[in-house]
Amino acid sequence: MSSRTPLIAGNWKMHKTGTQAVEAAGKLKRLVDAARDVEIMIAPTYTALYQVAQTLKGSAIAVGAQDLFYEKQGAFTGKISSEMLVDAGCSHVIIGHSERRQFFGETDETVNRKIQAALSADLIPVFCIGESEAQREAGDTFSVLDKQVRVGLKDFVSEALTRIVIAYEPVWAIGTGKTATREQAQEAHQFIRSLLETLFGKPFADTVRILYGGSVKPDNVRALMEMPDVDGALVGGASLDPETFSKLVFYN
Ligand code: PEP
Repeated sequence: MSSRTPLIAGNWKMHKTGTQAVEAAGKLKRLVDAARDVEIMIAPTYTALYQVAQTLKGSAIAVGAQDLFYEKQGAFTGKISSEMLVDAGCSHVIIGHSERRQFFGETDETVNRKIQAALSADLIPVFCIGESEAQREAGDTFSVLDKQVRVGLKDFVSEALTRIVIAYEPVWAIGTGKTATREQAQEAHQFIRSLLETLFGKPFADTVRILYGGSVKPDNVRALMEMPDVDGALVGGASLDPETFSKLVFYN
């Protein structure tokens, strides 16, 4: 366990209408009211953001979006800017999720531009990286992570990045029920932190939070959180039910 404040974040993906999201957020708010020394964030779908943010006003639960577009405004049909997310009540935004990389043409270069857009609107980017099963089996895990970090964070200086959160999400563990062992998670997190030290210096690397994501559940969260470089979790499936998600918040 690290001295960094843990962040337990839920990615609701394309689940829940506005009404359902408000109901779940209201329940979660009651369930985690007593949580201390942990940050909590949920990322509903775009159409529910404003309502959920209103529901959670004054609570300790932050609201995040699942993506943004890097341009400020213009003829970009279907896209949402960082300013629009802030206006809807977001403080965080997930960037570079593997599903966006896999299905929607997200690249390390677009991720870099999105992180820039998020930071310039004072949104906290939750920057996702992770290797596929084939890449792990080929022994390429570290080189994949290295490229994702170097290109995703290219041209930034540490001062601009202070609030960024990294999420290590091995693609083979997302939604599959196959969690990385805590040793595999620690090994990857340690690699990422030492790379960040090389790129941005020790003070930055020591304070940046690195979340683990990939089939995190109430029965494995504690073991993962005990590892020295695991500073929280980015959770898909187990974030949808407020009772289950609250168990992750109270992992301790
Ligand atoms: C995710 O989508 O970021 C994720 C980790 O999903 P799950 O928890 O369902 O594996």
